[in-house]
Amino acid sequence: MKKVTHFQNDSLTAKLLDQQDPLKEFREQFHIPKRNNKEVIYFCGNSLGLQPKITSEKIDFELKKWAEKGVDAHFDDDPWIYHHHKGKKAISNLVGAKIHEVVAMNNLTTNLHLLLASFYQPKGNRKKIIIEKGAFPSDYFAITSHMKQKGINPNDHLIEISPDENGYLSTEKICHVILTAKDTLALVMLPGIQYYSGQFLDLKSITNAAHKVGAYAGFDLAHVVGNIPVKLHEDQIDFAAWCSYKYLNSGPGNVSGVFIHETHGNNSNFPRLTGWWGQNETIRFKMKNYFDPIPGVDGWMLSNANIISSAAHLASLELFEKVGIHELRKKSVLLTGYLEYLLKNNVAIKPHINILTPENKSERGCQLSLYFYNQGRRAFDHLAKNGVVLDWREPNVIRVAPVPFYNTFQEVGRVVDLLNQVFV
Ligand SMILES: *Cc1c(COP(=O)(O)O)cnc(C)c1O
Repeated sequence: MKKVTHFQNDSLTAKLLDQQDPLKEFREQFHIPKRNNKEVIYFCGNSLGLQPKITSEKIDFELKKWAEKGVDAHFDDDPWIYHHHKGKKAISNLVGAKIHEVVAMNNLTTNLHLLLASFYQPKGNRKKIIIEKGAFPSDYFAITSHMKQKGINPNDHLIEISPDENGYLSTEKICHVILTAKDTLALVMLPGIQYYSGQFLDLKSITNAAHKVGAYAGFDLAHVVGNIPVKLHEDQIDFAAWCSYKYLNSGPGNVSGVFIHETHGNNSNFPRLTGWWGQNETIRFKMKNYFDPIPGVDGWMLSNANIISSAAHLASLELFEKVGIHELRKKSVLLTGYLEYLLKNNVAIKPHINILTPENKSERGCQLSLYFYNQGRRAFDHLAKNGVVLDWREPNVIRVAPVPFYNTFQEVGRVVDLLNQVFV
């Protein structure tokens, strides 16, 4: 077989890239949705990842256990009371953390609130929070609600960093704003990947700058985890949270992941909102009214785990453990690079689009955000009519996310062919 050493704009290249793909058999592990009885081209894993075939089996297992054992299942030889321990190893591998620094619990926005309750502790002049302009609404709402609750006016104390005209946020600019805010800054809270532009931020440099002025740095990694490997522990990130239904393929609205660096997590006096599930496991069921938190992020847990939906999360994590995030990332760089190559080398499409996502591979994940100067909606409708699932963001942006777990190079080729039909 001919080995592909560089991209070419022909259908044979896509075919060869698929044949050479070491992860090609993993597509089989997922249910591919259909429209009109035909499998779609699903480029929307940044919004809702596809369902692994083993998911229903894992859920059925817990349902059966509930049916057969009832409350005893909490304390059998695979006890539900320790269910949240099961995903920790896989999660820590995905985000570069220690086992006791990560846990899956609640939902993303709920966890952002819990983290803000801990890490936004304004004192004296130190009240400001830095976010990006055009932040995801839920993050914006969570942050401003904490400010308001503490009697701090966001109009005066929320700093929103504006991206340039292409939606790009330079690390220099972010660090400059942080260093300028100095000791008025309490917290930097940014996305790992900005959902609209697809830009992956430099978590480490931003965290270093925040620490230099005595502020905390936390990240919403909703678009990062399962997409790009990160090193949260080593990079001294203070905290992070993410959802599990985007690149983590755990099902709609499923449980969220949380990271708290051990320097804070192991401090039993660190401020927090508390619940009984954060209580030291040896005394939890003694039902006492003094709180002795479990060391690490588990000390932030509120409630006993939702076993049924956690089973879906564990099913997906099992697949990630099998492949490894670094292998997925390797394919992802090729797959998205191929999409970019085809778009840039198509004379019909090229004048009509501006790729907002950075060219630099270390500044992006799967997703490319295509800004259409004109006919964006027509292009979107043509793709949809031909069985391509993408998402549309106002005013004129189509986000395309080829996911290495289940997408192919030939699908990328097909989508660019369909776009070409719109503009020739
Ligand atoms: C997907 C996403 C959310 C969604 O929040 P939920 O609480 O899971 O509904 C929030 N913030 C960002 C940045 C996201 O990408």
